[in-house]
Amino acid sequence: AGQLIVHVRVAPLGDEYILLLADDRTEITRTEAMRNDFVANVSHELKTPVGAISLLAEAISEAADDPQAVVRFSTRMGKESRRLAALVQDIIELSRLQSSDVISHGREFTIDPVIAEAVDRNKLLAEEKGITVSVGGKLAEPLHGDPDLLMTALRNLIDNAIRYSPPNTTVGVGVRQRDGYAQISVTDQGPGISAEDQERIFERFYRVDGARSRQTGGTGLGLSIVKHVLANHGGEVTLWSQPGQGSTFTLRLPMMDEEPALVIEPAADM
Ligand code: ADP
Repeated sequence: AGQLIVHVRVAPLGDEYILLLADDRTEITRTEAMRNDFVANVSHELKTPVGAISLLAEAISEAADDPQAVVRFSTRMGKESRRLAALVQDIIELSRLQSSDVISHGREFTIDPVIAEAVDRNKLLAEEKGITVSVGGKLAEPLHGDPDLLMTALRNLIDNAIRYSPPNTTVGVGVRQRDGYAQISVTDQGPGISAEDQERIFERFYRVDGARSRQTGGTGLGLSIVKHVLANHGGEVTLWSQPGQGSTFTLRLPMMDEEPALVIEPAADM
């Protein structure tokens, strides 16, 4: 941090003067470094399932006379393929969100059915863990934006809340209107997130506990996608959490007929 990268060009102006042109390259260099970082991270993340799939394929062909092993290996192979597919899908979604002003195609919509659908899409996962997802509140006023993207964002939050919570707990989804914003919150009774990790979990591929989080089946891109979706809507995602006391993620979206109090620019690095 604090380093400035400048390209300087010198041109003589007659005998007595020279012209110094200083070009601030700090931001461009930073963005390039991040892009390289992203490519490096993506290749690393892709290599794991791809490597596993090809090893499992080999193992299957060698275990032809052991039907039980074949079943075991092919089940693992299916799991790794789904992981690969989820990863590819999230990478595409994230780069789409980063590269364009997607919500110029926004429209008027109401949030309640979006919430209902996001909950519904996580129904199986919740049932598997005996988790109850309860929805409270209603918001009839229309919002402006891309309901599909907001559904994706909300689905990611609910999915995390379920995956990181112990079985037989409750996940609460609430909606209300406040200070010119629609606020949608997702609260869980999970392990909570330390202050230190709270600063980093919205970064691409950041996981609090790398190995364990990967085990739970996530791609490490969910919160990064949420953050970009909200930024594209002139909104934001905030987090309240304390270790041992669960977490609450809140999405804030500007209401249509009110001037938003603040404009949030997406950070280039997340
Ligand atoms: P992942 O696919 O790993 O879930 P995310 O970007 O969605 O990736 O989340 C990043 C990390 O933040 C997770 O790996 C997990 O460690 C942590 N996290 C996210 N949501 C929660 C939650 N509700 N409770 C506890 N930890 C969470």
